[in-house]
Amino acid sequence: MKKDNCIFCKIANGEIPSKTLYEDRNFRVILDLGPATKGHALILPKEHAENLYDLPEESAAEAMVLARRMAATLVEKLHCDGLNLVQNNGDAAGQTVQHFHLHLIPRYVGDGQSINWKPGSPTQEELEAVRKTIVE
Ligand code: 5GP
Ligand code: ZN
Repeated sequence: MKKDNCIFCKIANGEIPSKTLYEDRNFRVILDLGPATKGHALILPKEHAENLYDLPEESAAEAMVLARRMAATLVEKLHCDGLNLVQNNGDAAGQTVQHFHLHLIPRYVGDGQSINWKPGSPTQEELEAVRKTIVE
């Protein structure tokens, strides 16, 4: 299902033009309008899903296979030195467009970008408490 007023539904389904790198029945891969680096691409499902938890499992599996294939193409064609896969869910995680998308960000030595966090230093007990919360 498409969602009214969802810009990525419109782009994925070709109602709004985009710099398309790949398209099939279920997905469109486009260049990001505000790229972190040269070749920054977005994988968009044509069906609306707000985020990863909303995405059907088959689409999630298909998205990852497509990511692998697109990553190989970007490395081959752009000769990037590395590549980050980024996928944001929710405001707290920096999601700005509420339609699932997977970022493919080619990385170049010295590109000045960073995708980082400050590592914490929990005790074993704290880690165990978190583990229990998640699995029990
Ligand atoms: P988020 O922060 O939600 O993970 O990422 C949204 C991404 O979509 C951003 O990198 C932003 O540059 C990109 N973006 C937002 N609107 C458009 C658009 O209309 N076209 C394209 N190609 N990219 C967009
Ligand atoms: Zn949508």
